Amino acid sequence: METIRLPIIMQGTALREKSRAKSIGFVPTMGALHDGHMALVRAARAENDIVVASVFVNPIQFSAGEDLERYPRRLSEDIEKLEAADTDILFLPEASNIYPSGFSTSVCVKGLSEKLCGAFRPGHFEGVATVVLKLLNIVQPARVYFGLKDYQQSLIIRRLVKDMLLPVEVVLCLTLREPDGLAISSRNGYLSAEERKAATVIYRALLMGAEAVKDGLKSPSELGALMREALATEPLINEIQYIGAYDPETLDALETLVKKELLLATAVKIGQTRLIDNLLCNGLK
Ligand code: AMP
Repeated sequence: METIRLPIIMQGTALREKSRAKSIGFVPTMGALHDGHMALVRAARAENDIVVASVFVNPIQFSAGEDLERYPRRLSEDIEKLEAADTDILFLPEASNIYPSGFSTSVCVKGLSEKLCGAFRPGHFEGVATVVLKLLNIVQPARVYFGLKDYQQSLIIRRLVKDMLLPVEVVLCLTLREPDGLAISSRNGYLSAEERKAATVIYRALLMGAEAVKDGLKSPSELGALMREALATEPLINEIQYIGAYDPETLDALETLVKKELLLATAVKIGQTRLIDNLLCNGLK
């Protein structure tokens, strides 16, 4: 695996490979790689001539008081994992090369960016959209891989690609979970043993919601209340930012469950750790 640090070198390499009709599959990450990330790398490996993964903890998607400084950094383990998965190129830029002095551009996917997580993390998705557009311009992939674990992010990126007619296919991959159901996340490492156990309630609450929908529950507010109660059984959940049933295209709270597909989604805090999860399920026909 080759490691490239400079954007201009990465872009030159990518353009050269493209001119040789090689397809590039790209997996953008913030590192501390886990099985969820590696599933994206495997999908990229299966579908492209060249696999590029980036590790970049994007400072502009963190606001003051968030976990930018303590975000886990495990570069040597990341390199081992990427090599084992037959990655061709690790793109490992410095923040000063992605945002050199004078950098002034910001990309905002309006509407979607303000909902759900956006209401609690102002500026977050603008930071995500800005870095993703820049990374796509640098890496020039035919396909870019994102996880449904970050459903709202994946929707915003799909919107960005469509709106700006970016010549890339966005491939979405299912959420990988621990055996007890907790969605795998780099932030799970912040949890104490007790908190880690408590965190299993998040997926249970979503499953309970999906089950209630399957059993014919018609009221979104009742559904929300049911899932909220499920979360509230766990005293270590100290904040429920949102939980409910949402339109998977607009992220608006649903007024009826008579929909083909609905998104059950939540964000909670356990101690200082913010965790998100979601589940797509079929509503009543
Ligand atoms: P991150 O390093 O958190 O920015 O994540 C990089 C990519 O991995 C994003 O597209 C995430 O949605 C995806 N990802 C993170 N956790 C998981 C998971 N448990 N299953 C599948 N994809 C994931």
